[in-house]
Amino acid sequence: MLRTIAAFDRIGEENAFAVLARATDLAAKGRDIINLGIGQPDFRTPDHIVEAAIKALRDGHHGYTPATGILPLREAVAADLGNRLKVEVSPSEVMIMPGGKPTMFMSILMFGEPGVDILYPDPGFPIYRSMIEFTGARPVPVPIREENGFAFSAEETLKLITPQTRLLIVNSPANPTGGVTPKSEVDKLVAGLARFPDVAVMSDEIYDHMVYDGEAHVCLLSYPEIRDRVILLNGWSKTYAMTGWRLGYAIWPGKLYDCARKLAVNLHSCVNAASQYAGIAALTGPQDDVDRMVAAFDARRKVVTEGLNKLPGVFCATPKGAFYAFPNISKTGWKAKALASALLEEAGVAVIGGPDFGVLGEGYIRLSYANSTENILKALDRMGEFLASRKAG
Ligand code: PLP
Repeated sequence: MLRTIAAFDRIGEENAFAVLARATDLAAKGRDIINLGIGQPDFRTPDHIVEAAIKALRDGHHGYTPATGILPLREAVAADLGNRLKVEVSPSEVMIMPGGKPTMFMSILMFGEPGVDILYPDPGFPIYRSMIEFTGARPVPVPIREENGFAFSAEETLKLITPQTRLLIVNSPANPTGGVTPKSEVDKLVAGLARFPDVAVMSDEIYDHMVYDGEAHVCLLSYPEIRDRVILLNGWSKTYAMTGWRLGYAIWPGKLYDCARKLAVNLHSCVNAASQYAGIAALTGPQDDVDRMVAAFDARRKVVTEGLNKLPGVFCATPKGAFYAFPNISKTGWKAKALASALLEEAGVAVIGGPDFGVLGEGYIRLSYANSTENILKALDRMGEFLASRKAG
């Protein structure tokens, strides 16, 4: 009998993929399913980006690249961070990654081991906790509360830090809540971190373009006092509608860069070359498509929030970022996962139960509004009919 390591009893998954599989299965059987489950833009990758990848392959860029990524792409990332967020980054600090997830995988692997604490947001992206558990480290949830507009609280976060804490994971704009932590709160966190010089911070900023109501995104790299211990996770998946290209980047401070480079050499060698050339076109080409997509998400955000607040027993705080709404459904009488499952099976609307993002997700469901306004309105109608006619199960 094969005996794999015990850590596989602890590793988790991302239920959004299971819901996607079930929704696809039901659709294949002829059911009309509206998918508000998976978090991926419903737009096509802009043409000039696709063309750049095709050209790269035609030009013969189909071999290995350096493990850290091709230099023009690393330069483009550094220039983008400088122009857009006024963050000074050298191309030698940029590593091209096969998507956003590998940066969390590697950072957690770098710090996680038995006896160590890693702090992560709850509700939050499920892979954080999954990977922390995999390494044997202790997962310490940082509560993300509706009454704080789903921003993290600096005070609450700092109180959870112990001598065992090695890594703090933060995510703003956030999945699954759409919360954006205001600059004043980030300032407080950074000031408090001065007391804990051995704690690294992994800042997941993959939704940094999707901040609404005229707010500016706050990048953790813009704080010189913690610059030598911030890992930045970002990528192309959400901003440029490129989830399937598997293209992301990390900024690794100090010796972590070499740790990550070694992991890359051991794991994936390099990111596929055509995707990297596409990444250059995305960052250096026209940004009109990004503006158009973000404006569409913003308009749908209003539609989804307004519609959800009209449903019986549902309250939805207006999300400030990303493309998720996280309505409170506790007054419907339903448990969140039971509601998500019944909505899919009976009403043909795929959403994700809040507990799939952590224990504090009970009482909430997540809707991704990366879908057409027409579909969102249809889904809201179906949810309204369902909640009015069906007793909580
Ligand atoms: N970080 C957050 C907060 C996300 O929501 C996601 C994807 O849903 C990722 C990272 C992963 O992005 P990628 O698909 O580029 O691996």
